[in-house]
Amino acid sequence: SADHTTVIPATPGEPSVPGAALAEIEARDITAWFGQRKVLDRVSLTMPAGQITALIGPSGCGKSTFLRILNRMHELVPSAQLGGEVLLDGQDIYDPERKLIDARRSIGMVFQKPNPFPAMSIRENVLAGLKLTGTKASRSAKDELVESCLRKGGLWEEVKDRLDAPGGGLSGGQQQRLCIARSLAIKPRVLLMDEPCSALDPTSTRVIEETMKDLAREVTIVIVTHNMQQAARVSDTCAFFLASQGTPGVIVEHGDTGAMFQSPQDQRTSDYVHGRF
Ligand code: ADP
Ligand code: MG
Repeated sequence: SADHTTVIPATPGEPSVPGAALAEIEARDITAWFGQRKVLDRVSLTMPAGQITALIGPSGCGKSTFLRILNRMHELVPSAQLGGEVLLDGQDIYDPERKLIDARRSIGMVFQKPNPFPAMSIRENVLAGLKLTGTKASRSAKDELVESCLRKGGLWEEVKDRLDAPGGGLSGGQQQRLCIARSLAIKPRVLLMDEPCSALDPTSTRVIEETMKDLAREVTIVIVTHNMQQAARVSDTCAFFLASQGTPGVIVEHGDTGAMFQSPQDQRTSDYVHGRF
């Protein structure tokens, strides 16, 4: 349907109820295929409310595919097939009775490469999600939203005097923080981040890590990273994905990040966190 081919950059939607409880997201028995090729095999993971969950593992093990399945973005790939369930606070986001937009409006997404609308102003970038859904707000309500989202994204102080300047004029790290601010404007309950710092310098990376830790108080965060130190620095919970020798990706081990890094239960996890492959 048309829903499935519409790329929605900032997960638009009406702002959720103020003070809505933090949401848990649970994947049950996720199996994914691209055509004949199975790339995930019965992956189950609970990503607790108000925590940062890191998905780690070597390239090609299905981390991005899994993340995209959490907000139905894999449906943009025509050959993609899915088994299993994704529950957002117990509600199936794949429920055929539910519109795609309803599932997505609670879930924000930030990608590896910062993708603000380059010609749009900083202010318009933040408000883009509202525009896409036709959500009406007064000028002053919009001003407040722009400021609060830019503050949460850790960008306000740097841009408050040039909100009408184009988003494309910012540095890479600032653009990524603008994308975070944009994703927050619809007040998502879950924020998915796919290697959000891989294209950035170490200083921007640290700013974004601090921003994420603050955000986790109001939104459940799932981050894909292949930076082990980053996973250790930011995440509460960690899941180690692996796809060996052409077999589909599975979760080898998951749990408390500190425990997993200090005393991994599986030899393969130990090898990975110690950089042995
Ligand atoms: P990761 O993010 O862990 O590097 P991905 O989820 O991107 O892994 O990819 C998992 C597997 O699925 C890889 O073998 C990749 O080649 C394959 N894959 C990813 N996207 C597509 C696609 N659009 N079409 C076909 N195969 C894909
Ligand atoms: Mg990836």
